[in-house]
Amino acid sequence: NKPSTSNFIKNIVIQDLESGKHKEIITRFPPEPNGYLHIGHAKSIVLNFELADEFNGKTNLRFDDTNPTKEDTEYVESIKEDVQWLGFQWDNLYFASDYFEEMYNRAVLLIRKGKAYVCDLSPEEIRHYRGTLTKPGKESPYRNRTVEENLALFEAMGRGEFKDGEKVLRAKIDMASPNLNMRDPVIYRILHESHHNTGDKWCIYPMYDYAHPLEDAIEGITHSICTLEFEDHRPLYDWVIQECEMESQPQQIEFARLNVTNTVMSKRKLKQLVDENVTDGWDDPRMPTIAGLRRRGCTPEAIRNFCREIGVAKNHSVVDAQMLEHFIREDLNAKSPRTMAILKPLKVVITNYPEDQVEMLEGENNPDDPSMGTRQIPFSKEIYIEEEDFMENPPKKYFRLFPGNEVRLKHAYFIKCNEVIKDENGKIIELHCTYDPETKSGTGFTGRKVKGTLHWVDAKNAIPAEFRLYEPLILDDNNTEDENKTFLDQINPNSLEVLEGFVEANMKTAKRQDKFQFFRHGYFNVDPKYTTEDKLVFNRIVSLKSSFKI
Ligand code: ATP
Ligand code: MG
Ligand code: MG
Repeated sequence: NKPSTSNFIKNIVIQDLESGKHKEIITRFPPEPNGYLHIGHAKSIVLNFELADEFNGKTNLRFDDTNPTKEDTEYVESIKEDVQWLGFQWDNLYFASDYFEEMYNRAVLLIRKGKAYVCDLSPEEIRHYRGTLTKPGKESPYRNRTVEENLALFEAMGRGEFKDGEKVLRAKIDMASPNLNMRDPVIYRILHESHHNTGDKWCIYPMYDYAHPLEDAIEGITHSICTLEFEDHRPLYDWVIQECEMESQPQQIEFARLNVTNTVMSKRKLKQLVDENVTDGWDDPRMPTIAGLRRRGCTPEAIRNFCREIGVAKNHSVVDAQMLEHFIREDLNAKSPRTMAILKPLKVVITNYPEDQVEMLEGENNPDDPSMGTRQIPFSKEIYIEEEDFMENPPKKYFRLFPGNEVRLKHAYFIKCNEVIKDENGKIIELHCTYDPETKSGTGFTGRKVKGTLHWVDAKNAIPAEFRLYEPLILDDNNTEDENKTFLDQINPNSLEVLEGFVEANMKTAKRQDKFQFFRHGYFNVDPKYTTEDKLVFNRIVSLKSSFKI
């Protein structure tokens, strides 16, 4: 692990430990189980877990499941899997819904203190009464109900005596506050819905701004880290902790959320992509979800290094997607074996090679790391090269194969193109070449030089494979000011290209999620979903080069 860099949140933690405000820090990662985690969540996960880790503290994984309508156990399971895959282990696993009883009791306490009241205004009326930044709010006609009346009504709400939306419980704070969040926010609403954890036990559910501070306080969270949009909810957060007389007093600290170019980063939008079949599920390799990145072939190390590099700050910014790719390449360059794959095959017949001979050639698995060993690569009379590595009428400075030219085959021999075979439509179907046995790789041949080195696979032994190449899912179009356009109008119609080609014979042992560097093509992952006993499917993780520098 790289030493962690300093940031303003870490400085707060250091101060709080030095001053004795806290003996131990406890952070939490509090996802709502209403979708799969994305790379933005990874930023928060890395921040919370590593912060606690660095100061020997604890981190809870807490499912913020206070809204029954959108939550599901499928999401709960996926979130656990993703956090662990990223390399983190929570100290405690909690469900906010386990605190419903306690939250209810604290609401009763607020009512008894005259700090909460049952209100019969409709949602529209509440919004209207709330006022705006320039217009003070107007008090609800129900604001001055007696404690007894409020207690009786709140209990009746809990018993299911009212319909959805008929009544709410509101905190009684200040309708003239310059902060709109403090103008008697709704803290409980009626929802006759089954909850994934509590079933039909409750028909009233706490609102986020009321529930979250209580969840943090109940768990003894010391530093409650959230994104910037909650900055002006902080006075309400503190109000709830204080008025509910919570023993523990967590501190809310806000940081800027992660945004990345060429993608969307909100569960609501990602869910839309899944529901409308724009992508092949939450784990589609084009999705910025952890599940999608994993299936694409991205490693947890790359994500962690990316999150550390982007750092933690208070100002909004958009991070270039290429930066994540940089960390993927850096990690995979060290780890992944090299191999050859032909994505768009063109057959080459080596006319002077013995008919039934197969010889085994040796190739290093990683030129930068001899400990990764070597492999045996079969070679025979017929091979495949990339269609793009041959041109009948090449421009100047084209060093690959063309009639009369000689190139090197990686790990094998020099070959020279003598004849181009076409079908009746003039399409090139194969090349006839000759090889020079003197030029065998590894023999130290220096007789003459060639400028191009091509990769290839042996036609007889190669394994057919499918290759899935990805481009960004979303085209960033900064020119559109058209308000009616949504992110769905910016979907890249060419984000997936599927090719049928071949990989080296020794890939028959490749397993799902194995990662390779295909010579000249980039890094590829064995797709866990579409790969079968009979068919290898590869996802391109990233191409080899990028101009991106950090
Ligand atoms: P979304 O808007 O994508 O639905 P959310 O904020 O509603 O995300 P939660 O499940 O509530 O998702 O988030 C869990 C935690 O992850 C929160 O603490 C939140 O601040 C953090 N988080 C979510 N998105 C990002 C992001 N883009 N960058 C950093 N942190 C994020
Ligand atoms: Mg949310
Ligand atoms: Mg959100």
